[in-house]
Amino acid sequence: MNATGTDVQRPLELGIMFTHRCPIACRHCGILSGPDNFDSMAMELAERCITEAALLDPRPATIVFTGGEPMMYPQHLERLLGVANQLGFATRVITNGFWGRNQATGRRLLYRLQLAGLDSLNFSADKFHLEFLPAEVFRRAIEIAWEAGFPVIVNTVLNMPGDPVALFSRLYGIPTEKIRLFDEDEFIRQVATDTVPPELTQMVNLSFGRLVGLGRAAEYPEEHYRSDLAAYTYTPCQEVVHRPVIYPDGSFQACCCAGGKIASFTVGNVRERSLADLFDEMRTRTHFRFINQFGPRALHEAIAEMSPERSSDPDGYASICDVCVAATKGLCAKDVDARLDHWLLKRFLEKDEISAASGPRRPEPAERDEEGVIAAGFFDTGRRLAGSPEDMKISTGSLENVI
Ligand code: SF4
Ligand code: SF4
Repeated sequence: MNATGTDVQRPLELGIMFTHRCPIACRHCGILSGPDNFDSMAMELAERCITEAALLDPRPATIVFTGGEPMMYPQHLERLLGVANQLGFATRVITNGFWGRNQATGRRLLYRLQLAGLDSLNFSADKFHLEFLPAEVFRRAIEIAWEAGFPVIVNTVLNMPGDPVALFSRLYGIPTEKIRLFDEDEFIRQVATDTVPPELTQMVNLSFGRLVGLGRAAEYPEEHYRSDLAAYTYTPCQEVVHRPVIYPDGSFQACCCAGGKIASFTVGNVRERSLADLFDEMRTRTHFRFINQFGPRALHEAIAEMSPERSSDPDGYASICDVCVAATKGLCAKDVDARLDHWLLKRFLEKDEISAASGPRRPEPAERDEEGVIAAGFFDTGRRLAGSPEDMKISTGSLENVI
């Protein structure tokens, strides 16, 4: 479960959450997956989504099959990989590596999917997965993946301070020399310049994040390693909008981490509207553009400024996604956008007042943040948003909601 992004523009990916079924039931699972959760996407719907994705402009570079555990349905996956492949998409599967239980069947399964068009794999592994899948199962799965020539990228959840490589090495019995931290931004640049290093397919490339207190994770608050809001930076998140995901029931979510659990991240349903329509709406939502540009911490502060009852939680937050989720939890999409539109308008007007009265203005506290993300450009963006009625999307109705 990867959390937040940086200044590098993420290539567009579309996630198909094909199933909620999973052979295990991790305590931190945000979507309540498990052996008894049979919610799965109808094949016709999954095929239609991939076909419609090929007509988008810009079109996604990659179709990502996620769950649950999509590799529990190899025949369906094979067919969908074939459709995606024929339409020229790169493909990725997110897996917990359960198929490493048996070397021969695991190998057959992975080679079969590779033949069907699977390009890359993302593993999920951490102390919560380890409660169900022994370390040797994971080790066997990554050896099969290496043998087949896949880069092994592992997403892991940490809920304690410490060196992620050392912690993961201890948990899974893999020497630290075989683990390197995965820098996705660097990887994106390397792919763009065709300079991907060979060690990518010879090592565990570890990407780490913290817990999001949603789904089953909410039942284990003692597992949450919390930090005050002030401990989080103003780094923008590029996951939202660039990595939307479609749930088994067809609901279209602007990001995987909060999507499906927080109302404001649901854009609509592919059963009722075209994918192009949903993408268009997602791209114009102030909420998501705000996160892309200013990040979850600024989002939290802006919403709290407009609704003081939503000030920061004295107990802190388990992750940057937790900050993002807390900012808009309980609000519908329209209310979130209205609050942010109003906040931007307020900043824009304040800026004009300050410059008219006193020349150059003093930077506000947020602008002095070490990340420098909320900087002078903030007001320029406000001006841009306020400048175009189409972008601003503000109406008397929406202002009435927040005043
Ligand atoms: S976290 Fe992943 S592996 Fe664990 S139950 Fe949820 S979907 Fe399955
Ligand atoms: S929950 Fe917020 S911070 Fe986390 S990935 Fe989604 S948009 Fe980014």
